[in-house]
Amino acid sequence: MNNNHQATDVPFHFRHCCWFCNEPAAETFAFPNRQSIGLESSHPAIFVASCQECKRFANQVYGHSIWQCREKVKKALIKRYQKDLAIGKNWTKEELANSEFSGGNFEGFAKSGWFIYEVARDRVNFAGWPLHCNGQEISDSSDGLEFIFDGVTYADLSSAIEFYVKTYYLEADFLLKIINIVGEDRFADAIRFARLYIGYSRAAQNELLGDLKLRN
Ligand SMILES: [Zn+2]
Repeated sequence: MNNNHQATDVPFHFRHCCWFCNEPAAETFAFPNRQSIGLESSHPAIFVASCQECKRFANQVYGHSIWQCREKVKKALIKRYQKDLAIGKNWTKEELANSEFSGGNFEGFAKSGWFIYEVARDRVNFAGWPLHCNGQEISDSSDGLEFIFDGVTYADLSSAIEFYVKTYYLEADFLLKIINIVGEDRFADAIRFARLYIGYSRAAQNELLGDLKLRN
């Protein structure tokens, strides 16, 4: 991570909020994050306020823009809170309040279930606020990021990575690190290298990456 990340302006009423989910923010997330370093970024390097949980998710994902990261953070939130979100699918607020649950866990569920659902729903739905850096709005544009490989045009490099990760059961993290070293011009080599070492331990992979770095 470099030191060129710049703070973004925060609207007054969001001054303590997570940009991803609107919960209280105790952290800042820096984009590009480590995972995204090999990907061309569509906007300047920035910081946004984040809660601990979203930051943890955001650090694990990659993208060409903070909006692509946000999409993945939201997916992670949906997965993590699937049970809470299901409450709103299975009940209405009134049904839950009037349910005949009594005793123990069920009573607690009837009382707090809707609230739990609303918290999860609102976190997933929160759309953040427009990002400004030094008075300039940072726009969510993926123009010019197209990546062509093997005769196929992908929206961007990360879309191509996702495709090959799914097709060959590769580890995205390992592949990203390889691309970081060899560069996107050698995408074919990166895929081949990643395929050779599927299932290797993290330690073995790090050793391979070290060797690769020396040779590049
Ligand atoms: Zn958050």
